[in-house]
Amino acid sequence: RAKKAEPGTICFFEAADDKSARDRKALQADLELAVARDELFLVFQPFLNLRENRITGFEALLRWMHPVRGLVPPSEFIPIAEETGLIHEIGEWVIRRACATLAEWPVDIRVAVNFSAAQFHNTGILQAIVQALAEANVAPHRLEIEITESMLLSKYGSASSILNALLQLGITVALDDFGTGFSSLTYLRKLPFSRIKIDQSFISDMLAQPDCAAIVKSVIALARDLNIGVVAEGVETVDQLEYLRQTNCDEVQGYLISRPASAEQILALLDPKKQRATYAA
Ligand code: C2E
Ligand code: MG
Ligand code: MG
Repeated sequence: RAKKAEPGTICFFEAADDKSARDRKALQADLELAVARDELFLVFQPFLNLRENRITGFEALLRWMHPVRGLVPPSEFIPIAEETGLIHEIGEWVIRRACATLAEWPVDIRVAVNFSAAQFHNTGILQAIVQALAEANVAPHRLEIEITESMLLSKYGSASSILNALLQLGITVALDDFGTGFSSLTYLRKLPFSRIKIDQSFISDMLAQPDCAAIVKSVIALARDLNIGVVAEGVETVDQLEYLRQTNCDEVQGYLISRPASAEQILALLDPKKQRATYAA
């Protein structure tokens, strides 16, 4: 950027700002129509249980196939959905879709759905979840909600009441991106999480950085002592997988095991005749 605007140059910056604002507005307008136009879909990424050597569940990840722009990543459109309030409609759609998909899978498999902080303000969310489970005829313990530490930081009051209500219903809650926020240990005391997910930044650095490895090992031990599950996110190499096996991590998730896949691909993987979703490394 120029330190000082020369006469005539300032308008270029304005034009650029205008363009990105216009772009955002256009994306926002398109997102409003995306649900009705059936442009949103879910992909699923497995959790591999290391002790049992089987797939225990999948995380549902939202995708938007824009008719002109192609695939728009969630990091781009979720913030727009949050700002505009569209996240409520979209979030409920995600839960309905995830439950309907889960209904076709073996009963020992769970589905995890990501939550936005804004969804803690939607008083209808509990009713929507109960309805989605009933419509799909899925037991509540098979649905897991993933939330992040930063969501608790900003909205602890409303978050804890919704989370406690979810737990009452038998729905499990996982703490996502663990280690990247603040005060996580306090939240572990206050809320009965069923699982923590160690953020992928720790997993990618742990074999090169001893201090990072110490954190990963300690978090796994902490989870075990608290009697809750622990998942390592973003596992990309065999060495990382072996290290996590040695440190008794319960479950792993990452491109090494599988990239997020379509519901059809998952169903093919989960042949019901096999009873169990085994994993062949
Ligand atoms: P997240 O919940 O932490 O999901 C993990 C992200 O890491 C996903 O990106 C996944 O595709 C990616 N990932 C998985 N394994 C690997 C790996 O081995 N290496 C690398 N480099 N990446 C890996 P994705 O699908 O782009 O989602 C990004 C974030 O968007 C999610 O982070 C989540 O916070 C948010 N998100 C996705 N779907 C939803 C949704 O339905 N609702 C809400 N509110 N947020 C969502
Ligand atoms: Mg997640
Ligand atoms: Mg994560």
